[in-house]
Amino acid sequence: MAKQSTLFPNDDVRRTTDQFLVKLLQDSTPLGVDESVSPAEDLSAFRRALSAVDFSTPQDLHHLLQWTVEHLQHGLVQMTHPRYFGLFNPAPSYPAECADRIAAAFNPQICVWSHAPVAVDIERHVIEQVAQRAGLPEGSGGHFTCGGSEANHTAVSCALTAAHDDFAEKGVFAFAGQPRIYASAESHLAWVKIAHQTGIGRKAVRLIDTDGSGRMCAAALARVIETDRAGGSVPVLIASTAGTTNAGMVDPLHACADIAKEYGLWHHVDAAWGGALIASERYRTCLDGIARADSVTIDAHKWFATTMGTGMFLTPHRHVLQTTFRVATSYMPSNDQAVDYYVNSMQWSRRFIGLRLFLALANAGWQGFADHVERGIRLMERLTTQLDAAGWQIANASSMAVACLIPPPGGESVEECVARIVASGQAWVSVTQFESQPVVRICITNGRTSSADIDALIRLLRNQ
Ligand SMILES: *Cc1c(COP(=O)(O)O)cnc(C)c1O
Repeated sequence: MAKQSTLFPNDDVRRTTDQFLVKLLQDSTPLGVDESVSPAEDLSAFRRALSAVDFSTPQDLHHLLQWTVEHLQHGLVQMTHPRYFGLFNPAPSYPAECADRIAAAFNPQICVWSHAPVAVDIERHVIEQVAQRAGLPEGSGGHFTCGGSEANHTAVSCALTAAHDDFAEKGVFAFAGQPRIYASAESHLAWVKIAHQTGIGRKAVRLIDTDGSGRMCAAALARVIETDRAGGSVPVLIASTAGTTNAGMVDPLHACADIAKEYGLWHHVDAAWGGALIASERYRTCLDGIARADSVTIDAHKWFATTMGTGMFLTPHRHVLQTTFRVATSYMPSNDQAVDYYVNSMQWSRRFIGLRLFLALANAGWQGFADHVERGIRLMERLTTQLDAAGWQIANASSMAVACLIPPPGGESVEECVARIVASGQAWVSVTQFESQPVVRICITNGRTSSADIDALIRLLRNQ
């Protein structure tokens, strides 16, 4: 009999291990309210145990699975905890978790349609439906990305490619002056990294003043573009944010689109987490103007609650994607720009991540996601109404499920309050700057968070 392989075990071994793993995960996730949201693990003991794993002696897989899950259960800030009110990292929806298991089992290579026609068609269908739901013109498309940053990077590459016929060959030397991109001072600063990586340089990013409420000031935007043009720079892209990371504020999308049109710039709307409002009839009007964008970022791994690593880039200008990412090689089975992702996007080998959103949307429908976002907003209203009555200041006027809070005068500072809560392990909240002042940031990200969890958070915030 052939020796049993550890890396590729037979069906019996797989079946037993599958059952073991499923039971392990059932017993350890999602986390309950009584467990610590913050890492409770002795991290120096963990590092010692980790360095002892030097790969010289093969270890039993059941033991390794148990070891890993136990340490993850105590060594993370826990996204699946109902009192994680953190950065926009969701507790993943169950259909999305299922999708990851399926994608891992088949491991399709989806960079070319002919290798994985069913998987590519599923992804394309989801992207087209999301683009349509966002109101983009008939025929719009795009692709899944590893996150919002990749999608925003794609927007800059497309904008530069569209701005000058010679950019593809000559890079920034094609331009008569320094290319410029514009985003608000409250935008997600991936723009700075992107400017570095695209070779236009970090100084290419103009951070436009906000209006005091966290939204880009359109008049300031127009002024800076004028000044840049007069000084010999080449304005290329306006990146409006629809749902700022800190505060859920939406830039004036129509005014930004008008300015982009007037000066011939690419208008990108970064709706990384706010974009999920397209699901809700009631709240989608917050994103009014998004339909006019040249491109849009929506992260499914934020308010659409997929597992990590699921962004989306949407555009009506499919041909610009094709120009930007074209390449020809002899070893690829095809080179079809209509269907092959490797000639339309930044990635080459691709994981089948779109299945996460496909299963979740097909299972819950748009209505299921409308319920999910509206529920978060209702819980946030419960929180802000009660804190407002208790003398707290709500610094941001957002319709999304995020609050920037300032404690009543004379009590704890923002930093003291957040440090106390995080150290307690009973909830997780963060400090951020909103309009240049420190605030307690609270974001409702978990579909299992209840009104009892909100009431518990209010007591914690008030130190009662
Ligand atoms: C989260 C976020 C990003 C970055 O997305 P990643 O998925 O973390 O790469 C960009 N823009 C906004 C507005 C975001 O909230």
